[in-house]
Amino acid sequence: MSHLKIQWMNSGRYLGLAYVAEGKIKLDKRILCSFKIFDEVLKHEIAHHIQWKRNGNRFLTKNGRRILHGKDFAAVCKEMGIPARTRIPIHQATA
Ligand SMILES: [Zn+2]
Repeated sequence: MSHLKIQWMNSGRYLGLAYVAEGKIKLDKRILCSFKIFDEVLKHEIAHHIQWKRNGNRFLTKNGRRILHGKDFAAVCKEMGIPARTRIPIHQATA
């Protein structure tokens, strides 16, 4: 995953976003409030890239909708030692 490019953003809505096709991650500077939050959000986004890669450069779908936080995602999170949650307790933002 060393090919990943990381950019800062001021989303207001998301703490992190994974652009899998572009090999890019965007992070909101709010995650710099603590190392623990920074560490979890960065690994969460890397986990999306790993999940995408493992599924053959795609996300699993159900009824035509992408499943971003399913069992495959949870498995990667477990390997990375982070909770497989989508809400990280900082201003109730989603990731
Ligand atoms: Zn996510």
